[in-house]
Amino acid sequence: MTANTASAIAAQFPEFDKALHHYFPGALPLPKYMSRTAKALSKYGFEEENTMGMIAICRDEQTDPLYEAVVRYWGKTFNCCSLAGFVTMGKTGLAAATAHTPIQNGLRRFVFYAMPHIAISRNGDIGLIYREGVETPSHACGALETIVEELAAGHLNLETDMQDIEQTIVRQKILSQLRYGDQVNLIDLTKLASTIIATDVRNLLSRLDTTVFHYAVIHGIQIHGPFESQWVYPVNFFIVGQQFGEEPYPLDTFTKGEPIAAQVSGKPDAE
Ligand SMILES: [Zn+2]
Repeated sequence: MTANTASAIAAQFPEFDKALHHYFPGALPLPKYMSRTAKALSKYGFEEENTMGMIAICRDEQTDPLYEAVVRYWGKTFNCCSLAGFVTMGKTGLAAATAHTPIQNGLRRFVFYAMPHIAISRNGDIGLIYREGVETPSHACGALETIVEELAAGHLNLETDMQDIEQTIVRQKILSQLRYGDQVNLIDLTKLASTIIATDVRNLLSRLDTTVFHYAVIHGIQIHGPFESQWVYPVNFFIVGQQFGEEPYPLDTFTKGEPIAAQVSGKPDAE
């Protein structure tokens, strides 16, 4: 699906378009979003030949277009996916991923796309998605919707369930960011998930030697629209590496002329 097709779909379904831009101002069709990230990164030496992809998004098959786009732009891509896009790969997963990155003149490069997802139906309903072969609509993200429902019901199982370990992690991480009694909707929870994912990625990658590793971190929210149109709400986009300075270097790709979501400014936790 091209950016033009996605825009035509938005024009055809005004309720969708309204909800999309109301809740996610500055959201772009996925093809446009991807090409902008790749174009921006090429200025800093990130090319398909010398860079590996990494991706942490939800396991839901609806997110496949984003996964496929990352592979298309960056080639071989390390799968860091888990429910809701939460980062559960840990140090072992990171060690494996980084060991696979190509080496060019002593530098190893990767780009890490990490984000939650949400659906908006043609009528502007938040979280509802019609799946092929299933008559009734279901939810995206189902993992986050479950927590919205548990909060509304006031019934939360806080135990670590080894038979449901990914959802346990999603629930525990979200609850540690909420105040007792908070009621949140799916939009709020998806934005909170985006912040949690960003902080976790930053903590995970903070142990890397930036004289060797140059990497980009790309956060947003993937949005599924009608007719399988795909959109991304940009949240944060920066590069890290000794050549780019001490601190993460933000790229202004999505801030020129278009509003951007709140920049995530989570500092790595002290160890
Ligand atoms: Zn999901």
